[in-house]
Amino acid sequence: MTETEQKAQLVRCIKMLERSGIMDYNGHASVRLGQDRMLINIGSCQRSALTVDDICTIDFDGKVLAGAGKPPLEFHLHAGLYKRRADVHAIIHAHPKWSTILTTAGVPYLPVYAQGSLLYPMPVVDSPNSINNPTMSKLLADTLGDRPAALMKAHGAVTVGKSLIDAFTLMTYLEDNAERQYMAAQIGQPYRFTEDEMAACREKLWNDGLFRRTWDHFSAKLDG
Ligand SMILES: [Zn+2]
Repeated sequence: MTETEQKAQLVRCIKMLERSGIMDYNGHASVRLGQDRMLINIGSCQRSALTVDDICTIDFDGKVLAGAGKPPLEFHLHAGLYKRRADVHAIIHAHPKWSTILTTAGVPYLPVYAQGSLLYPMPVVDSPNSINNPTMSKLLADTLGDRPAALMKAHGAVTVGKSLIDAFTLMTYLEDNAERQYMAAQIGQPYRFTEDEMAACREKLWNDGLFRRTWDHFSAKLDG
């Protein structure tokens, strides 16, 4: 993909997250450019009406290299994870309601449906503070380890991937699982997938074709 195409895909990703209720007036997503730069939405942009003019290029110190406007204060979240994880090429951070309610209430994320089980076990950052400095960024990177997603206590969620499609798809799975878990807990004991069932889900569901189909599902709704 060219940088122009990557920028357009990033805009589309953030708008899809906003339309599906996962991202609100805050939140940010980024795509790695080479070893030491990234594309990211500017902090002050309107997520519901995003355009390519709302995307800037920054280095890992937050210095703006291209574009108008400043990166979000939480750019440290992205910089820290790109530095730590060579396999990560895209990152999404949002404050999705259902996922965040779990950590607000101190309830562990459980694998309660097939796609959601891909994200289990789910690490939790034991602080509600913004990831707006190197210390918090290190705490997040240490907590995430080699996992694809983490929750931040009473704050939000982060997903990472080798592509923006992966990070997006995982964010939708995470939030969908959290909502189902919450709802099930209102009327009974949520069913928790066994290790064997989760292994079967990983085998069957963790593939580029299905992740692409999830992306396309939301992408088509954006144009509808
Ligand atoms: Zn945040």
